[in-house]
Amino acid sequence: MTLAALKQAVLEANLATVRHGLVKATFGNASGIDRVSERIAIKPSGVPYEEMTADHMVITDLAGTTFDNRFRPSSDLDTHLVLYRAFPTIGAIIHTHSTYATIMAQARRPIPPLGTTHADYFHGTIPVTRDLTAEEITERYVEATGEVIAETVGSGDPLAIPAVLVAGHGPFVWGRDPEQAVLNAMILEEVAKMAWHGAALDAAPPPISQTLLDRHYLRKHGANATYGQ
Ligand code: 13P
Repeated sequence: MTLAALKQAVLEANLATVRHGLVKATFGNASGIDRVSERIAIKPSGVPYEEMTADHMVITDLAGTTFDNRFRPSSDLDTHLVLYRAFPTIGAIIHTHSTYATIMAQARRPIPPLGTTHADYFHGTIPVTRDLTAEEITERYVEATGEVIAETVGSGDPLAIPAVLVAGHGPFVWGRDPEQAVLNAMILEEVAKMAWHGAALDAAPPPISQTLLDRHYLRKHGANATYGQ
């Protein structure tokens, strides 16, 4: 992929988060990586979305070295770098402060698979990280945020449950490419909203069965997927 194509795809992902109502002000950031050249494009820090162009996207390598210093990269760059290094199968990352997913992150409430909307995109409970320690916050906050996400995913397949709620902060979501990461961020917000409202009817609604979860997830994902054209 050319750098121009990567920048354009990452710009579109950033703008899509706003269009889908997942981002307000200059919150949030999206990035993408070309695994062949190991170049990352990420949102510039604090630039209003209305003014953002592909040219604003900052290019870095996996160590965070930037190749063009006209714009400062997202303040969350180090979180993205930790995740790209930890999960070689992911190609894009999105962070938002989308309302319901952030409510769940702030309440430290994992989102169990309560229905098939969830099962179509997330093959299990969307987890919440532990709180960062005072030392982690003081010494290396942004990098530690990535580490605590990676710790929460553990040995699981990051693409099977492509999101983690960072306690007291908000969601980090990923996908194979920027477009898929946007979709996952949008579905995450939807299932978080449903889980929050569902809890008003029943404090702890039961999750769907593993069989139904598998039925929906596996028809859309993996080697034997049958969904779509
Ligand atoms: P940036 O504009 O630096 O990406 O910051 C947005 C944000 O949401 C930080 O968590």
